[in-house]
Amino acid sequence: MREINHWIRGTATPGTSDTKLDVFDPATGEPQAYVLAATAAETGAAVAAAKEAFPGWRAASLSRRAEVMFRFRELVDANRKEIAALISSEHGKTVADASGELARGLENIEFAAGAPHLLKGGYSEQAATGVDVYSIRQPLGVVAGITPFNFPAMVPLWMLCNALVCGNTFVLKPSEKDPSVSLLLADLLRQAGLPDGAFNVVQGDRVAVETLLDHPDVEAISFVGSTAVAKSIYERGTRNGKRVQALGGAKNHMVVLPDADIGSAADAAVSAGYGSAGERCMAVSVVVAVGDSGDPLVDAIQKRIGRIQVGPATDPSAEMGPLISREHRDRVAGYLADPGPAEVVVDGRDAPCTGGPGFFLGASLVDKVPPDSPLYTDEIFGPVLSVVRVDTYDEAVELVNTNPYGNGTAIFTRDGGAARRFQYDAVCGMVGVNVPVPVPVAYYSFGGWKSSLFGDLHMYGPEGLQFYTRTKVVTSRWPDPATSRVDLGFPKVR
Ligand code: NAD
Repeated sequence: MREINHWIRGTATPGTSDTKLDVFDPATGEPQAYVLAATAAETGAAVAAAKEAFPGWRAASLSRRAEVMFRFRELVDANRKEIAALISSEHGKTVADASGELARGLENIEFAAGAPHLLKGGYSEQAATGVDVYSIRQPLGVVAGITPFNFPAMVPLWMLCNALVCGNTFVLKPSEKDPSVSLLLADLLRQAGLPDGAFNVVQGDRVAVETLLDHPDVEAISFVGSTAVAKSIYERGTRNGKRVQALGGAKNHMVVLPDADIGSAADAAVSAGYGSAGERCMAVSVVVAVGDSGDPLVDAIQKRIGRIQVGPATDPSAEMGPLISREHRDRVAGYLADPGPAEVVVDGRDAPCTGGPGFFLGASLVDKVPPDSPLYTDEIFGPVLSVVRVDTYDEAVELVNTNPYGNGTAIFTRDGGAARRFQYDAVCGMVGVNVPVPVPVAYYSFGGWKSSLFGDLHMYGPEGLQFYTRTKVVTSRWPDPATSRVDLGFPKVR
């Protein structure tokens, strides 16, 4: 079987450890490759490579760094098909979905290419007599990214483009479940002219992550993954004095008011609930049906589920692929086996599938889910949509706002006033108005509230640039020896 290497100093580097982690093809259920989980020494070597590359890359002019991003963008664009196929082969999502992920990743490269404009500081002439004050943004040094399985291209691109264009060097620890794309991106960065060592990849698991968290030469950590891990990464990283942004899990509510167009709302719920088999951090996992919207909405969703084609990414007619692993598929199916007082309207365990014995589970719909049910309280992260019925708008908002997660939420209505009120009321980082998956474009930033994000700054976009730089303020005078004198008083500006 093929080993998926590390990438250190611009070269694919075989692993040396005894810890072999299989990489599966989720559509067949068979292992197809493996990584040798990086040891502390191997992770340290990647950090050392990044540290050595930092002074040179930092000194590269802004236009040179932007030029690398432009070239990288062209290379990723030219290799779209190959990258999408690679994502599908290890993640299991359809090729169309993988291409969509990549398109959103490309946006981040394009944003980073404009960084010279966005990194401009401020300048105050004559802040005091003969004194000018100005601010500049400088890179942090070596920064690290730890990424989840569900977006093996897009989430690394959320981080690495802004980090590199700001002049930092980078160590990526991708998900061990679908690690190949990170190597392809590393090679494209090399072809784009990024100096060796400026971008490194260590394959592996907890050992590599903890080494990065404890390493004195790593200045900042960007993490995306589940809430429990995000919280521990934030705590350990900040305890070690690092800047940390750690994005966690989600339970995204889609509120449907009685005046909504039920057909459009059902289309949106099905697209956002079952796209990528529900393994998106912005997937809709709870539909909150307000008033008498419940019966027609459940009926409309059920009808649409019957038409979803489940199958492997190699089947061009497939709309939904398998889940990432056998354990995960079985865990998700467990919610259907034991729904408590809720009503299973569609049981995905019975769904027809064009695939083989892979980790498939069909789209599932559970109605009348009580808010204390694990169907509501857990992040299921699979194709199980729960419908919670409430009588009023206020009850719907109460659910959104008291839920421990606060990644995304959406409202479906024809009433502009209600939509505006919802955008004001929702305790949540990203809000959609008749848009079920409100992932911000790359020139805004992405981030949830509450247990969906630990740290202050959101990821990518303007807040990404802020995260990967620190501000220096310079106060400057060019004295005239004729007027220079000793003055022990506190510096005055008037
Ligand atoms: P995960 O938390 O299991 O893994 C994420 C990364 O952390 C991986 O690289 C993994 O190797 C590493 N990791 C796992 N356990 C660790 C540990 N104990 N110590 C150190 N490192 C560890 O998440 P996942 O299953 O890969 O991804 C799915 C999760 O990610 C879901 O909860 C989803 O909501 C979340 N997610 C959130 C966002 C967001 O933007 N908020 C985006 C994508 C995914």
